[in-house]
Amino acid sequence: MKEIREKHLKRFDTRAVHAGEQRWGNCEEQPGRGFCPISTPIHLSTTFAHENVEQTDRVLGGEEPGYSYARYGNPTVTAFEEAIAALEGGGQAFAFASGMAAMHAALMAAEVGNGATVLAAEQLYGSTATLLVQVFGAGGAETRFVDVCDLSAVEKKVEELRPRAVVIETISNPLLRVADVPRIAEITRAAGSTLIVDATFGTPYLQRPLELGADIVVHSATKYLSGHGDLTAGLVVAGAPYDGALGEVRKLVGGIMAPFEAWLALRGLKTLPLRMERQCENASEIASRLAGHPKIAKVNYPAAKDHPDNEVARRVLSGAGGLVSFELAVDDPEAPERSRKAAFRFLNALELCVKAPSLGDIYTLAIHPATASHRELSPSRRARLGVKENLIRVSLGIEHPDDIIEDVEQALEKV
Ligand SMILES: *Cc1c(COP(=O)(O)O)cnc(C)c1O
Repeated sequence: MKEIREKHLKRFDTRAVHAGEQRWGNCEEQPGRGFCPISTPIHLSTTFAHENVEQTDRVLGGEEPGYSYARYGNPTVTAFEEAIAALEGGGQAFAFASGMAAMHAALMAAEVGNGATVLAAEQLYGSTATLLVQVFGAGGAETRFVDVCDLSAVEKKVEELRPRAVVIETISNPLLRVADVPRIAEITRAAGSTLIVDATFGTPYLQRPLELGADIVVHSATKYLSGHGDLTAGLVVAGAPYDGALGEVRKLVGGIMAPFEAWLALRGLKTLPLRMERQCENASEIASRLAGHPKIAKVNYPAAKDHPDNEVARRVLSGAGGLVSFELAVDDPEAPERSRKAAFRFLNALELCVKAPSLGDIYTLAIHPATASHRELSPSRRARLGVKENLIRVSLGIEHPDDIIEDVEQALEKV
């Protein structure tokens, strides 16, 4: 069986299906087998033997491609990595056991160490902010935060701090603010800073940050890339000069993705374009249906005309994403507990949508950010970020939109 040639893998959807798959060699050349698996096998092996010790020596020395020990690399993991690199349009992909392990490795590869300054998006995923402040902070790095949607503030801070790294996200949680990646990349490039983009919410289907000037892309593959809510994984995609350090950090810290998860993720990845298409459609449908609803005060969706980053979203994303957040029309700043009660009542009344954290699954998931993703923040910090007690975030699945809307509407009736 022949390898699929590059010329057949020009388009994203085709790459999503075929890239990375190891359909090695010619079946006839495998005596006594006469078959070739069309799906890359799960290589559950902690160690790999070779023809002779000389070859082992060459593999360990990096003179010959191959595998030696599972913490250094595994063929099933490589298949998933190659598929991701093909979708990101460049760089080398490194798969990790979680998105956080991936972010840690990216920051290490960017040399965020003692004395370094990091400029991070104020809207950053909570654990990433805590990783920076607590773990890298303990190692002597200082993190400062900025509203990444305020480009002049970003420019000023980058000039003032000359940060080692700038960490942003394609689309923020839960207000779905959209970063102007190409403009921010110009700013960081001029200052010699490494731009790290957490592209979890966008996936390469909506945006490929490396093509827009970012240096390092990070994903939580737990979300859209695998897409079925059944595994935890992360990825870093980058080229020189970061790839050497990424391989080294992964080997020494030991956060490599496991082969079974890699196989599941590679399987999930094949339908990324189909899932994202439907999730974006569902999100757009829900956002427009809820916009005029009497029980809703405000809807956040980047494709909506009144979204503050609507212009940026049109320019830097090829779709507005699969998440929507909205405020219930019960906001009473004097009585946040009333808002919380309404939000809880709404969530408890959902019958189809699953009340659970995470996002990007085939199931529609709904959460109350103030007590879930943003729980650890002080009320004043939540208020500054706009994470109100009446705010609900929905990650759309691939169900029929009318079923999702019916469920949301009946739950709204009970608020
Ligand atoms: C979930 C998530 C992470 C962390 O990923 P894990 O796989 O849970 O470790 C990082 N960034 C964003 C934007 C996420 O949504």
